[in-house]
Amino acid sequence: MIIWSALRTSFVSKRVLICDEVDPILPKVLRDNGMAVDYEPETTPNQLLERADRYEIIVVRSRTVVTAQTIERAKRCQIIARVGVGLDNIDQKAAAAHNIRVINAVEGAMNAVAELVVAHMLALARSIPRGDRGMREGRWLKKELKGTELRGKYLGIVGVGNIGKRLGRLARAFNMNVIGYDVVPIDPEFCREVGLMKADLDTLLQSSDYVSLHVPLLESTRHMINDESISKMKKTACIINTSRGGIVDEAALYAAIRDGRLGGAALDVFEKEPATGNPLAEMDNVILTPHIGAQTAEAQALAANVIAEKIVQIERGVI
Ligand code: NAD
Repeated sequence: MIIWSALRTSFVSKRVLICDEVDPILPKVLRDNGMAVDYEPETTPNQLLERADRYEIIVVRSRTVVTAQTIERAKRCQIIARVGVGLDNIDQKAAAAHNIRVINAVEGAMNAVAELVVAHMLALARSIPRGDRGMREGRWLKKELKGTELRGKYLGIVGVGNIGKRLGRLARAFNMNVIGYDVVPIDPEFCREVGLMKADLDTLLQSSDYVSLHVPLLESTRHMINDESISKMKKTACIINTSRGGIVDEAALYAAIRDGRLGGAALDVFEKEPATGNPLAEMDNVILTPHIGAQTAEAQALAANVIAEKIVQIERGVI
């Protein structure tokens, strides 16, 4: 982490619009470094479109979508910063066409998302939400809630990048067997460290008790988990999606769980967000969380620090 006081210099003319709620360290550091920051965490799409031409730097999290139309209007914009990982809410093609740098903070969410996956696996294995609901309704479901253990189970990690790797390390602590699939070669040293078995996607789907998705949302990954891929999985297996909505075909998932062709699922991300009223919420062996993968104090602070550091370094011509 850089020493902010040493970088204090004046970027007087630079105006920054922060459109979503971020850790207070980010506006503070940018202001300390002479930038004029408008911190407006409730910015609506129309407000952003209307005001985009006033700023050199636009900062968003996942809520705000930066469209080609907004970028077209953002005549003086030089940087679009995403305080987080996924860049699918920013039209990167349009940004590149207008010479706008798009930056993100991959480091922030790694541990937070991996821990959420572990929480989801444990909650599925022991039916924690159902037990909790029963208690609140005055029902003692002890007999019905005979669970399973993670120890010795096979965890298939689809996309062994930053989050996938962190999850692999955590899974080893539970003595799980880790299988990994990626379109790029997986670091052999990491494979040795966690005992990861490399496999093609079909083998991973056939062998895993838990399949956890950690790929970006691309045309090639859209509905990667669909009726056909689910048909290759064990009937008792569970799918966990903390990557992006759209990677799982939710209609196919619903039908497979309803018909007993799949054991269950835990989803943090959805095809349509906010995902209130999602039919999957009716199912006992499905656990849903409202896109909280990176929603920890530590992850938000880390991502804000990383973005502050990158913006200041870009302005100083260091990177
Ligand atoms: P990363 O770029 O480090 O890793 C992604 C991996 O997926 C890469 O190794 C890449 O080679 C691989 N990949 C790409 N296409 C693939 C395909 N078709 N098949 C198999 N592998 C493929 O990304 P990350 O930081 O680990 O993030 C992973 C996902 O998590 C992203 O979708 C990101 O948006 C999401 N995310 C979600 C939250 C949340 O709040 N739930 C928070 C942060 C990140």
